[in-house]
Amino acid sequence: MTRFGRHVCHALLLMALTACNSRTERATSSNGAAQAQATGSTATAAVATATTATAASASAVRANELGLIPVLEYHQIAPKEDRWVRTPAHFRADLERLYKDGYYLTSLHEIVSNRISTPAGKTPYALTFDDATEGQFRYLPGTPPKIDPNCAVGILEAFAKAHPDGGKNGTFFVLPESLFGQPPYAKAKLEWLVKNGYEIGNHTISHDGLSQLADAKVDKEIGGAVALIHTLIPNYAVRTLAYPYGLVPKNLTLVSKYHEAAFLVGSEPTVSPLSKNWKPLLIPRIQGIDSEFTRHFPFLTKNPAWRYVSDGDPLHFSVPDQLPNGMAGLAPKYVNDPAVIRYGSKSGDKS
Ligand SMILES: [Zn+2]
Repeated sequence: MTRFGRHVCHALLLMALTACNSRTERATSSNGAAQAQATGSTATAAVATATTATAASASAVRANELGLIPVLEYHQIAPKEDRWVRTPAHFRADLERLYKDGYYLTSLHEIVSNRISTPAGKTPYALTFDDATEGQFRYLPGTPPKIDPNCAVGILEAFAKAHPDGGKNGTFFVLPESLFGQPPYAKAKLEWLVKNGYEIGNHTISHDGLSQLADAKVDKEIGGAVALIHTLIPNYAVRTLAYPYGLVPKNLTLVSKYHEAAFLVGSEPTVSPLSKNWKPLLIPRIQGIDSEFTRHFPFLTKNPAWRYVSDGDPLHFSVPDQLPNGMAGLAPKYVNDPAVIRYGSKSGDKS
């Protein structure tokens, strides 16, 4: 949440690599297989290989793709726990706890594009990191430099290695003039993240509250940040934005002009992209702190019918006939969509 100093490294800004250019251009393709190849995303690769769900297979895992999805939000990963700080040990424990409770680490892109390839029976969740602080991605000195095993990226890499069935992803909402605290590595870090299947999102140039700014200034903060990111990773599809302080601009067309989806600071799991309550420019998140974990996850553990449970098929959407009381139904565009699979007593499924 802190406003960071500006560390523009002009020499690095001028050194846009053409190799990255071709990779990110292909990453904008809507073809799942091509995208997986381009970005190295194992999650997206599953789009091409997933099996087709049926009412029987959906029923067997109690799939509910109208359920809630946790999108977690972290700021600093550092040794002393504080309001905006998670320790490496606690961050590791968060990942382990979610893994043991049937959650699968997926990408924001899969969620916002409603192409969730989480394995059948698992609940997708996403990790987001705001402000591009050094503890999120730190290189230790050496030749070549090594990723600090106690920064978020180091912890995520170790987690993925230990749990190949737990998913792997993370979106970094960056301040492009203050990238992860080590200016000489700014470009290399963004390239590494994209190459290794992580996502880069926008957090504006100046980290000002967008709700108080005139339209022209909002446009400059959002569009200008995309342009700065492109000086380092040309043509990368910056699909998402996190509003600084969660403050939303008055004119949301200035957000949709650049992004597919945008995220608030708080304060609950998001509804499914299938839901009639889905608002892609106002997606809530859960802060990665003890009080928020305590507030939301016990409910989702005790009430599994409220969780998004995947059918394992990103191209079909499985929904039980009986939804929990209070859960919003399908958005109008999905009501008669043949990709929706219904199961349960009303659909003649006795299982
Ligand atoms: Zn922030």
